[in-house]
Amino acid sequence: TKSTGRNGYHFFESSMNTNAHNQLQVIQDLRLALERKEFRLHYQPKFNTPDGTVIGAEALLRWQHPTRGMIAPIDFIALAEKTGLIVPIGEWVLDEACRQMRIWHDEGNRHWKVAVNLSAVQFSNDDLIELVKATLARNSLPPYALMLEVTESTAMHDVEASLAILDQLSGLGIDISIDDFGTGYSSLLYLKRLPATELKIDRGFISDLAQGGDDSSIVAAIIALGRSLNLRVVAEGVETNEQQEYLTSLGCDTMQGYLLGRPMAADQFIEAIHTTAPI
Ligand code: C2E
Ligand code: CA
Ligand code: CA
Ligand code: CA
Repeated sequence: TKSTGRNGYHFFESSMNTNAHNQLQVIQDLRLALERKEFRLHYQPKFNTPDGTVIGAEALLRWQHPTRGMIAPIDFIALAEKTGLIVPIGEWVLDEACRQMRIWHDEGNRHWKVAVNLSAVQFSNDDLIELVKATLARNSLPPYALMLEVTESTAMHDVEASLAILDQLSGLGIDISIDDFGTGYSSLLYLKRLPATELKIDRGFISDLAQGGDDSSIVAAIIALGRSLNLRVVAEGVETNEQQEYLTSLGCDTMQGYLLGRPMAADQFIEAIHTTAPI
């Protein structure tokens, strides 16, 4: 009833996914997963490619299910949002990511930032600002060591409300990244007002990237836009040397992707970045 994917993850077969009984079972399991400590974070390094240094890591959620194996977020985030369980799960993610980054800071990596993904449900939760403040304090992590990733569509859904939230978050001293950029419908005037420090080009544009192709002009335009707004532009999903070289030629110097480092458990991170670093 399940198959093992390329990365050793167990994917639900689509027939299982749509099966109502199975969904109920997954929801019940999700409710217990926090108590049973079944969630894990994997970390994917983010590189400054010109000199090969790591500038931080994106925390990516995994569910170590007792019988189904390691489950990828695509198979449970939507259900967690629908049931509201994403709020307590997201609290755990934030706390765990800050705890880990505190350890890496103490080991001497003081310039690293940890990036945490926020779902739209968490983003519009009234307690978000207090939660972020309390989590940083509990882990004695300075605010500049935390980045929150909000997708372009979440940020643009209700622009005035988003601005109010992002201004408060940015006022705490944390960084904001606009994720999956290029897939939403940003107003440029609004983008200019956002207190973001980073734009992440959606992986879909990078995977189709072939010099001279349609997507390469979109990527070039996003890089130019980011530069003119003084934002760091990150390319995610970089899988080939050709993609890395082409992005470099366009002036993009921050990259994430399987070519440079896969998401991995914290205890493998330090060793792995020394074997996959660019140059
Ligand atoms: P995202 O934020 O756009 O994360 C990037 C996804 O691309 C991750 O998938 C990552 O493993 C994958 N990726 C990175 N490099 C490459 C590459 O070179 N090639 C390919 N093909 N893929 C690459 P993942 O970990 O399965 O996460 C999927 C999505 O789930 C994330 O997309 C994010 O939207 C969501 N997610 C993950 N963790 C969390 C979390 O803690 N909270 C919330 N709310 N959402 C999360
Ligand atoms: Ca992300
Ligand atoms: Ca993304
Ligand atoms: Ca994406």
